Parts: sequence; C-alpha cells; structure tokens
Amino acid sequence: MELANRLTNITGGGSDGWGVFYRARRMIDAGVAVTELTIGEHDTRTNSDILNAMHQAAIGGHTGYAEVPGTARLRNAVAERISTRTGVPTTAENILITPGGQAGLFAAHNAVCDTGDTALYIDPYYATYPGTIRSVGAMAQPIVTSPDTGFQPTKSAIETAAPGAKSLLINSPNNPTGTVYAAPVLNDIAAVCKSHDLWLISDEVYDTQIWEGSHISPRSLPGMAERTLVVGSMSKSHAMTGSRVGWVCGPEHVINHLITLATHTTYGVPGFIQDAATFALGQGTAPEDAVAAPFRRRRELTLKALAGQNVVRAVPAQGAMYVMLDIRATGLSGEDFANALLDAEQIAVMPGESFGQGALGHVRVAMTIDDDSYVAALQKLVNFAKNHAGAE
Ligand code: PMP
Repeated sequence: MELANRLTNITGGGSDGWGVFYRARRMIDAGVAVTELTIGEHDTRTNSDILNAMHQAAIGGHTGYAEVPGTARLRNAVAERISTRTGVPTTAENILITPGGQAGLFAAHNAVCDTGDTALYIDPYYATYPGTIRSVGAMAQPIVTSPDTGFQPTKSAIETAAPGAKSLLINSPNNPTGTVYAAPVLNDIAAVCKSHDLWLISDEVYDTQIWEGSHISPRSLPGMAERTLVVGSMSKSHAMTGSRVGWVCGPEHVINHLITLATHTTYGVPGFIQDAATFALGQGTAPEDAVAAPFRRRRELTLKALAGQNVVRAVPAQGAMYVMLDIRATGLSGEDFANALLDAEQIAVMPGESFGQGALGHVRVAMTIDDDSYVAALQKLVNFAKNHAGAE
C-alpha cells in the first residue's frame, strides 16, 4: 500500500546534517558523559507559580474540551501583549491559540499555500521549516543568506526569489544564527511582500530574547498587518516548551478560517494549559526577563571566551539562545568539525549544514548548560579548533 507523497516527502530525504546529533544521543545512552550543546531547550524548568496555576486550573475542572480558538482570557491576554509590544491594535479576533509555535507554522502555511505553491524561507533556517512547508503540499524554496551580511537577507535576494511565490517565512531573532533583523532589512522585506503580493509569515518565538538592537514585528510596518501572520509561543519566553501552547496572530478573516482548520485537526489546546499561559502572561515581563537572563549572560561569556584569538569567530549573536561559530579557519566543514569535536572532547554541537547552505563551515552552540560547564566547553572547543588550524 502506497502512502501519500505529501507525507513521505516531508523530510526531503538525503543527509541532513543531523548525524552528529543522533550519534551524541547514542553515546549518552551508552553512558558516555557528553556535553550537550545541540538543542534549544532551557536548562531551567517551567516556573513553579505557572505550574501551580496549571494545577489549580486542572483541579478546578478545566479538563474538558476547551474552546477551539482558545479561551477568551488567553486570546485577550495574547492580543494585549501584542498590542503593547508592537503598537498594532490587536483583539482576541486576531488570535488563534495553537499547540505551540510549530502548530502555528503549520496552520499559517495551510492558510496561504495551495498544493504546488512556492513558499520561500530564509536559510540558515530552523530545522522544521522546509518540512512544514512540504507538509501542506507547497514547494519549499530557500533564500540563502551569508555570514558576510551577518545572515541578514538582502533585498536583491528576496526580490529575485519573489516572482510567482506565495509566501515568505522569516524568523527574527533567528534560530540558528542569533541574527535580529535590522529596521532597513524589515522595510525591504515589507516592500518586496507588497510589490509581489506575498504573504509574510513571521516567526517571533524568540521575541523576548534580544541582546542587541530591538525586536521589530513586521506586522507593525505600513500596509503589513493585512498580509502578515505572526507565529508566537510560550515555549521560549516562559520555558514552557513541553506545555505546547502558542498562537497565530493575523487578520480576523484568516483567523476564522484557521479556527475551522483547528476544529478539524487539533481541536484546541487543553484548558488547564491555557489557564497557566494566561497566568504567566498576567505576570508581565519579569518572568520573561528571568528566563532570558542566563542566555544574555552566556552570550557575554561566549564573547569573553573567544577574545584574543581568531580561529573561532562568533557571528554576533543579537538574540535567541544560540551562537553560531565560524570555524572555517580550521579548514574543516561544520559537520567534520562537529564529529571530530564529539570524538575528541565529547562535546556535541550542531553542524551549520543542519540548517541549510548559508552556514557551511559553522557550528551552532546552544547556550543551554550552566555557566561554568558552558565556558569550559567553549575553551575546549577553541583549543580543539586551534590545534586543527595549526595542523592544516
Ligand atoms: N520556531 C523556531 C525558530 C524555533 O526555534 C522553535 C522551537 N525550537 C519553534 C518555532 C517551535 O517552538 P514551539 O512549537 O515549542 O513553540
């Protein structure tokens, strides 16, 4: 019996640069002490006040089917948050609550792409992007950015890819590069979207993790609210990755259709999880700052650890919980470097190749272990790179 191509083609096949990740997992299972710097998972857990709110909601009976679009309280809380942060008047009718940002990305592409449509995304990219696009039957087309521009997309590259495309997916602050898109870049993106009639899908799940510059939501740019779908999440901002709660924010008519999609797919998000998210958002920015603080600190520690040598160079991480390291001076590919580092030092990092073509010769380090272990691992990584550069 044949399965649907739409399903079997999601991963695209071939080597995807995740070999190092799976090898590290196998070593850990076999009892090897591997320093894991691969995945974007906080080293702190969900705050106990949020868990208490979840518990109270569940004990209080919010365990039946919840409203499919999201509870009125959470939709209002998200709308208020977005209005405050971006200045764009936003109401509950602009919000669909989803089981995490990933479900939001899927819903957003479902909303705007028909089978065979071209959907653009920026490379280096978050691992699921091309698969998410393919899972709605669309064609995933990357726009490759370069370390020379700090991985900011250029107008000419977007303009070249735009004709005939249906949508453009962007992500700032960016996973994997840590790039925060500057105002002129976002203005260029908006201009191309308007002139080529593209939907813009803006993944803003790292919007609370900004180390340099400021976060601008492209939905706030002139003429963009009607063609932008913003994907947000409680995962990164509140260390609630396992709770699976996020949202899509967009024009009311799009959200109405997405509510229909949710009715036929997820049937909503558990009520007690939504109540916990409502509670968390009600606490203002202090919990978000607390969750972001370790990454802000470790980003500084990274810069210190890399100072005084130029074999390993950090792409200036302006946001998010990762740093992208340029290891081209070693003469190794990102994949060879990551494999050799895993063997020599039992340190697992992600090869740039896992995130597309733009980050060849780079590795991504997740700043997700305690400060001392993190600095020690970076020092080993630098020494390892220096030895290799010397040996070339
Ligand atoms: N977008 C980006 C850029 C991410 O890094 C992630 C998670 N790593 C997601 C979306 C999805 O997150 P979640 O589904 O947990 O909200």
